[in-house]
Amino acid sequence: MIDWKKIDTVLLDMDGTLLDLNFDNHFWKEFVPLKFAEQHGISLDTAKQQLGPQFKSMEGKLEWYCLDYWSRALQLDIAGLKAEISGLIAVLPHVAEFLVKLQQSPKMVVLVTNAHRDSLGLKMEKTCLQSFFDRIISSHDLGLPKEHAGFWPLLQQQEPFDKQSTLLIDDSLAVLNSAKLFGIAHLISVSKPDSKQPKKHVADYPSIEDFRELMAGL
Ligand SMILES: [Mg+2]
Repeated sequence: MIDWKKIDTVLLDMDGTLLDLNFDNHFWKEFVPLKFAEQHGISLDTAKQQLGPQFKSMEGKLEWYCLDYWSRALQLDIAGLKAEISGLIAVLPHVAEFLVKLQQSPKMVVLVTNAHRDSLGLKMEKTCLQSFFDRIISSHDLGLPKEHAGFWPLLQQQEPFDKQSTLLIDDSLAVLNSAKLFGIAHLISVSKPDSKQPKKHVADYPSIEDFRELMAGL
């Protein structure tokens, strides 16, 4: 799937690529509505109906990933709630072996995430993956989400890379599309970002179900 000799830089997404998206899905679809319902004395169904459109309207925007934004908008301590169910944070299968191999290679390995620094901190603390990366970049530090075409030139200023020898692995098609537009040559999607959900069919990009598929030749 990938000729590793041609790759100098590996850009890795976090949620849904290295970490099980089940945590985030459960958090936003079940746990936050539950806490919102408790706070307002409404049923869980009513809470889900109220929050659904609010979440939808922010998709793809940087605020969607901002814990402070949601803490203000919902009057809930979002970072605190995340910490409450942090036991669900999990690394996807075979990620650790893959990262060990990458680390032993001379390639530059960069975690590039839309996650807010608080969320990122909690997840690195729970998974101990931090040491595998040469650099960790949160899009909040650059002011644009990865879905935005303007994100990639900003990233390149922070962390110089050659588009032709760079690989991005990300479960978000919107992110892969914006990276493609910018000219990143090697793009791979993830077909099983959430361990509790069925495998997704990915038409536009080569995809992996787990990282064993990328180990050959690394
Ligand atoms: Mg992701």
